[in-house]
Amino acid sequence: MKVDFHCHTQASDGALSPRALIDLAKQYAVTHLAITDHDTTRGYEQALDYAGAQGIQLFSGVEASCEWEGHSIHIVGLDFDINNAALQQGLQHIRDLRWQRAQAILEKLLEKPNFNHLDLPDLLQQQVGQGVVGRGHFAQILIEQHYVKNSQQAFDKYLKKGRIGYVKSQWPALQQVVEWITGAGGVAVIAHPGIYGFTSRKLNRLIESFIEAGGQGIEVVNQSRHSADITGMAERAKRYGLLASLGSDFHRPEQHWRGLGWLAPLPAHCEPVWQAFKTPLQPSLPSSVT
Ligand code: MN
Ligand code: MN
Ligand code: MN
Repeated sequence: MKVDFHCHTQASDGALSPRALIDLAKQYAVTHLAITDHDTTRGYEQALDYAGAQGIQLFSGVEASCEWEGHSIHIVGLDFDINNAALQQGLQHIRDLRWQRAQAILEKLLEKPNFNHLDLPDLLQQQVGQGVVGRGHFAQILIEQHYVKNSQQAFDKYLKKGRIGYVKSQWPALQQVVEWITGAGGVAVIAHPGIYGFTSRKLNRLIESFIEAGGQGIEVVNQSRHSADITGMAERAKRYGLLASLGSDFHRPEQHWRGLGWLAPLPAHCEPVWQAFKTPLQPSLPSSVT
C-alpha cells in the first residue's frame, strides 16, 4: 500500500489535470490518494471515476486556508461529504478572498516600473486557467518571465512579507475552517506543520487551538523531510493524541523534492489518519494484477 494524502491539480495551482495526476499516481504505484486542492473539491470530483477505473482509491480532500493568531495556516480536510452546503459555501468564500488578494498583489506589482511592460492581469488569467488563484501562480509567472529562477526566489524577492508583492491575507478563523470540515463528516489535519517557522511552544499552542476546535490529525510525513523531523512530529502527535497523516504536497513534476507518493513511511507507533475515516480503506491489489 502506498499513500499520498496531499497533492494539487489544475483545479487549484497544480500543473497536471486531475486525470493526468491519476496517471502519475498509477505510474508511481500509489494505491490510496487524496487530491487536496486549495479551497476547492473540483479536481477530486473530476478524477473520482477515473481513479476507480485505474484501481486507485481516491478520498475526498481539500487544503483550506485559515487564520490563527495573525498567521496563515493550511488545514487539510479528508474523507468528508463534498455535498455539504456549509463546507462548500465556506470554500467559495475563501476562493473569493483569494481573488481579492490576487487583485491587490497585481496592483502592487503594477506600481513598479519593472513590471510595466507586462500584461500581468492577462498572464495571471492564463496561468490560473480553471484553477483557484494563489501566490504560486504569481511565482510561476515570475519564473516564466525570467525574473527569478525558481519558486523560492519568487517568494524571497517579490512575494513574501516585506517585499513589493506582499499583501496580507484575510482568511476565516482556524476554528471556523475546522468546523466546516468536521461538520461535513471529515477529518481535519494540520498541513506541513514544519513550514510555519514556529517555535516548539507556539506550534504546541496551534495544536491546542486546533484540537479545541475539533481537529484530529497532523501531517507527520510531508515532502521529503528529514527523518529527525518525522520522528519529532510523530512524538508530538502521540503526545497530543493526534492521528498521523502523510502527503507529498505535489504541485508539478519538475519539483522533484515533492514527488507524488515519494514519502517515508509513517513511524510504527503512529495512529494513521485513515483510522478515523468513514470510508473503509480498500486493500490494495498487487501491482501485477492492476
Ligand atoms: Mn499550492
Ligand atoms: Mn499548504
Ligand atoms: Mn498543499
